[in-house]
This record gives sequence, C-alpha cells and structure tokens, in this order.
Amino acid sequence: MRQQIAAGNWKMNTTLDAGKELASEVVNMSADEVKAGVKMILIPPFTHLASIKSLIGSSKNVFLGAQNCHQSGSGAFTGEISIEMLSSVGVQYVVLGHSERREYFAESHGLLAQKTDAVLAGGLFPIFCCGEKLETREAGQHMDLVETQIKESLFHLDAKAFLKVVIAYEPVWAIGTGVTASDDQAQEMHAFIRNVIAEKYGNEIAAQIAILYGGSVKPGNAKALFECEDVDGGLIGGASLQARDFVDIAKSFR
Ligand code: PEP
Repeated sequence: MRQQIAAGNWKMNTTLDAGKELASEVVNMSADEVKAGVKMILIPPFTHLASIKSLIGSSKNVFLGAQNCHQSGSGAFTGEISIEMLSSVGVQYVVLGHSERREYFAESHGLLAQKTDAVLAGGLFPIFCCGEKLETREAGQHMDLVETQIKESLFHLDAKAFLKVVIAYEPVWAIGTGVTASDDQAQEMHAFIRNVIAEKYGNEIAAQIAILYGGSVKPGNAKALFECEDVDGGLIGGASLQARDFVDIAKSFR
C-alpha cells in the first residue's frame, strides 16, 4: 500500500508561541486519534522548526517539513537556508515548487530540478508541487502543463531517487479560494500523473509514488478526495492552522 500523508503547510503564519501550541495540539490529538501508518507532516516557518522538532519527539505519526530550501550547500546567499541546516534541526521533508514560490519568486523548472537534487543528496524527501492556473485549465492545457512541470524538474532522476519523491497536485485556482477540485477532477489528474510516471519509470515504481491533492482540503471534503484511487492524501494550507481540522483530515483515510 502507498503511504497515506496529510501534510500541513503553514506558510507565513503563526508566531513561535502560537506555532508551538498548534504543533503540541496536533501531536497530542494524533497519538490517540490517527491510525497507525498515516503520516502527518508539519511544515511551519523556518524559525519554528527546531522547537517543533522537540515537541514532535518520538511521535509515530508526526513528521517535520520545511517550506523551501536553497539549492547550494553553503556560502554567500544572504537570507537563504541550506539542506544541511534543515537536516540539522530534524527536517525530513521539503516542499518544492509551491505555486506561490513559482509565482512570487519566479522559481523555474531548472531551479526546481537543482533544489530536488539538493534535497535528495541531503537524504531528505521532496514534496514536489505541480498544478495549473484557471486559465490554463480553461484552455484545456492543464495536463500538458503538469506533465511538463514533472518532466522538466524530476525526470533527470534515476528510479531509486525518484522513489523518494512525493508529488502534490495543487490546482492554483483551488488554493486558498475555498473552491476544491471535484473528486473526479482530482482523480483524473492523479491518474494522469501516475501514468506519466509509469511511462518513464514503469508501472511498479509509479504504483509506489504518493500523489497528494492540495487546494481547499477541509474535514468535510477530505474523505471523498482520499477515497479516490490515485489520491494518497493532501497538502493542506488553511485547514492545517487549526489542530482539530488538521487531525480530522488525517482521520479521513480509509
Ligand atoms: C496550499 O497552500 O498548498 C494549499 C493547498 O492551501 P489551502 O489548503 O488553504 O487551499
């Protein structure tokens, strides 16, 4: 069975104290309520990572992720964070290519390929985001775009490295808008992504890759989305800022 993952991207939200409280609540609730094997990944701002790692402790369900990284190992890159730094505070996952980073920080396919290599070389796991804007979907180009995003940034990897990648399909029109892709739209794109992977790496590898859906996932719609054959969980923004909602989403897996 593929990994079942609920990853919570806090974006640029919460002070350290508020973040610690939120993380503690998630860790405590999930210990009793979330079934074994479901991974919950807390993805707070960089400033919170070390403190939240201590709060996660030896939790079996809860893991730590970062929202971004720099592609270089070290050096004169003021304001940037390296994989070694993230690893040194216990980060295991790194989100790459979130649509906000593509849009506001002009992250390109090539840059994301470099970041992917840095994450994997450091022994961490990339959560690679892809997804189209509304106008791209309306023009019928959404599948071509997602295929290009995946091919250009990930298909230089060998099969062993590719197996470490988690993919998050996040239609931009559904992020933070309250509009969720329908279960059919999500399943259609996830099956397409798995097929694109299978064409390059074979069915056996494609069947093992976790593909998350992101875009206004809430406790009320998570169950139906997670029941789709090729949807292996969610990358959750707004709802991950409420411990109760995030844990309820993590409880939505079959
Ligand atoms: C996200 O930020 O990746 C996201 C999916 O946000 P939201 O759940 O708020 O739509």
